[in-house]
Amino acid sequence: MSQLHPALQPVYAEVLHRNQGELEFHQAVHEVLESLSPVVEKRPEYVEASIIERICEPERQIIFRVPWVDDQGTVRINRGFRVEFNSALGPYKGGLRFHPSVYLGIVKFLGFEQIFKNALTGMPIGGGKGGSDFDPKGRSEGEIMRFCQSFMTELYRHLGEYTDVPAGDTGVGGREIGYLFGQYKRITNRYESGVLTGKGITWGGSRARTEATGYGTVFFVDEMLRARGSSFDGKRVVVSGSGNVAIYAVQKVHQLGGTVVAVSDSGGYVVDEAGIDLDLLREVKEVRRERVSEYAELRGNGARHIAGGSIWDVPCDVALPCATQNELPEEAARTLVANGVQVVAEGANMPTTPGAVALLRQAGVLFAPGKAANAGGVATSALEMQQNASRDRWTFEHTEERLADIMAGIHLQCVTTADEYGVPGDYVAGANISGFCQVADAMLAMGVI
Ligand code: GLU
Repeated sequence: MSQLHPALQPVYAEVLHRNQGELEFHQAVHEVLESLSPVVEKRPEYVEASIIERICEPERQIIFRVPWVDDQGTVRINRGFRVEFNSALGPYKGGLRFHPSVYLGIVKFLGFEQIFKNALTGMPIGGGKGGSDFDPKGRSEGEIMRFCQSFMTELYRHLGEYTDVPAGDTGVGGREIGYLFGQYKRITNRYESGVLTGKGITWGGSRARTEATGYGTVFFVDEMLRARGSSFDGKRVVVSGSGNVAIYAVQKVHQLGGTVVAVSDSGGYVVDEAGIDLDLLREVKEVRRERVSEYAELRGNGARHIAGGSIWDVPCDVALPCATQNELPEEAARTLVANGVQVVAEGANMPTTPGAVALLRQAGVLFAPGKAANAGGVATSALEMQQNASRDRWTFEHTEERLADIMAGIHLQCVTTADEYGVPGDYVAGANISGFCQVADAMLAMGVI
């Protein structure tokens, strides 16, 4: 890890002291602070008003018990979280993650990232995140529903379309949002569509929201390539993960002329030299809710499943980590570079470790951080809120066009901000500085709150 600016060292020390043991949160804060040296020099008013210290401390943190009854009649207890991080630009906005790895440090890292990501979209949304250590794997429909209902029975009092608007993340998709929305509606007796995003199309959801994160990541890479006179045409692409983000990244890469040759899950990865068959992948993951190993079995045609191992061993021009945090470590970055990778863009949140990011950048690989490259999901959530507020419903084409414009806008912001602060071509600094300054300016205007 590189040295922080002297003015930022005490800020980081305080974050470590206050949030002991929350390693992912430390990592996310350090990554942003590393980018802020030129901002400290250029905008001393932020330091005088302690804006950076304030941004690192969530406005509110909610932790609650989630009791539910499993199919055998046994009472189960999970822990629920919602970290309402920053509301300078709009209501808290960010997803809910249901995964056994969830604890306060994960929720805080995600909430912290969300502040800047949401600012970059240019939409009026603050940053927050939530979730539970509940493991949906192997749970029945009834168990999932009862868990969601219990979770919302506590969370509803903290939400509202002008207060806090959750959506999905790992383990929370359309099915879970349905159960959560149903319970919110029942408890409050209000059809408050704008309180959750990622809803079904017939009950207030937005077209293209499901596709938005994956599509957005690919649109962002397309902008990066275009800025260098290149395109996806003929590119060999590896996409880690096989959830919502990965599936729609695969689809958009194929639409733009590239070929995705590998996808993965926590059990291993699949290599399919003919190009991943999207219909089959969706059938396996979305309908059967099965593992990618089943994809290889059903596909035939030489597609093979490698149990365990690293998907980053598969040579490619473009690598899109779309699975989870810290899934692309330094050794993987070294292999990617040795195999001639040109672009790495984060579809997931913080999938690349700090050492791997440094290595890729030193090797001259174009690197797009998640705050910029995966902002399409939350941006389209904001478009869903906009449709809910005006009681309107847009076409798929119109919504996708808005998404593409937003991603192009984020790309431009990263490039111009990096130029302005003397770090041309540095998308990490561009994204961090641009997102930070927008939030900081709003906080300055609002006084000490
Ligand atoms: N969980 C997604 C993210 O990481 C989407 C959040 C949202 O739509 O509010 O940005």
